[in-house]
Amino acid sequence: MLSNSLVELDRRHLVHPVSSFRGHEARGVRILTGAKGATVTDAESRELIDGFAGLWCVNAGYGHESVVEAAAEQMRQLPYATGYFDLGAEAPIKLAAELAERAPGDLNHIYFSLGGSDAVDSTIRFVRYYWYSKGQPERDQFISVEQGYHGSTTMGAGLTALPGFHEGFGVPYSWQHKISSHYTYRNPLKTDAEIIAASVAELKAKVEAIGPEKVAAFYVEPIQGSGGVLVPPKGWVKAMRDACKEMGILFIADEVITGFGRTGPLFCCEEEDIVPDLMTTAKGLTSGYVPMGAVFMSDHVYETIAEGAGAKAVGHGFTYSAHPVSAAVALEVLKLYEGGLLENGRKAGARLMEGLQGLSDHPLVGDVRGRGMLAAIELVTDKDKKTPLPASVQPATRLFDRAWEQGLVIRSFAQGIFGYAPPLCCTMEEIDQIVDRTRKVLDLTLEDPEIRAVL
Ligand code: PMP
Repeated sequence: MLSNSLVELDRRHLVHPVSSFRGHEARGVRILTGAKGATVTDAESRELIDGFAGLWCVNAGYGHESVVEAAAEQMRQLPYATGYFDLGAEAPIKLAAELAERAPGDLNHIYFSLGGSDAVDSTIRFVRYYWYSKGQPERDQFISVEQGYHGSTTMGAGLTALPGFHEGFGVPYSWQHKISSHYTYRNPLKTDAEIIAASVAELKAKVEAIGPEKVAAFYVEPIQGSGGVLVPPKGWVKAMRDACKEMGILFIADEVITGFGRTGPLFCCEEEDIVPDLMTTAKGLTSGYVPMGAVFMSDHVYETIAEGAGAKAVGHGFTYSAHPVSAAVALEVLKLYEGGLLENGRKAGARLMEGLQGLSDHPLVGDVRGRGMLAAIELVTDKDKKTPLPASVQPATRLFDRAWEQGLVIRSFAQGIFGYAPPLCCTMEEIDQIVDRTRKVLDLTLEDPEIRAVL
């Protein structure tokens, strides 16, 4: 009863992110009422395994009392302190220091945002200010990668390369350029070396075409998330980083999804053996308990901006930059990661990959890919031709609904890709259940008359 009236109120008043307004009105909201560990409970008291950690963010899992206590204690003591006017608070200072200690290379300076989108947007502003400080304000062109996602602020959405974020919004801007994704499964090039060489050549050609003295920065996710969990060949990220260094343009790693243990180490850049000039994070930083993002700046970026501005204020910041409650949560979450969750995530990730690989024999599974607790399977109607499920069968909602019926929350991409990003706290049994339930979903999908009609 309560649930029914909430569904109606939601329909009338709550605008949902990245949704078809009309589609959502027709389907109605599914309300979650509780969660513990890797399990969420809905309004009908059904328990589901959250194979997507909310929105690839609840990396630590739900229901950690120590995190709740850290937030409550901070709220009691000092719920808010601005960072303006040279003010500050203990928690964000400690958090910045802890993060700098663990970050790759000399990423020693941290600017806290409210989430991933405004972290990306902040980097765009910092990059502009960096080149302005160096006396090269004409370096105002940005390059990112097709299928990439860099948030949905107006500037970030232009770096994002998913059509739904552009159409009707007047982006990308003319200063935002793209190169092709590595997308190995659908790449006509076969070997890793060929794919890497082609991407480097395309980036260099793009810089040449724009004008080498005009390019400010290259943005990349170490593993593309929202584009369908696209894992580059080993060495791809490093080759792109090296090419940027060679051309003298800034390299920005967007680790909003891949950070905080999602792929194994604390940051994915570590296993790629690179140090970006700037790095963005969010999501796992607070494990989704409260909003927060972070921009990591290398020494030379920070120093250049500091020297450029001199006594003037660098005019960028938000009321809630470095929020003490978010910082207190992040400090506690970091303890949980290092107290065993990273390690468990690595074991669970290996088991997840092994389990999903075991689904490769299924007639609908064209590709299985991933790293750590970040994975995907790509569904096709013809394995040899790699034919995607047609949009007419509405793969995203159809597959999401079917998984939900089986007690599994997954991300279902429009192209017929299942995305997995379970909490790092998953037990091996829960991982096995994720895989078993996925097989059931695939079997049921194969029996679905509308799917059969397109096979
Ligand atoms: N960058 C990347 C790589 C992301 O995956 C996301 C969110 N999925 C963002 C930026 C934007 O983060 P947020 O949704 O917290 O604004």
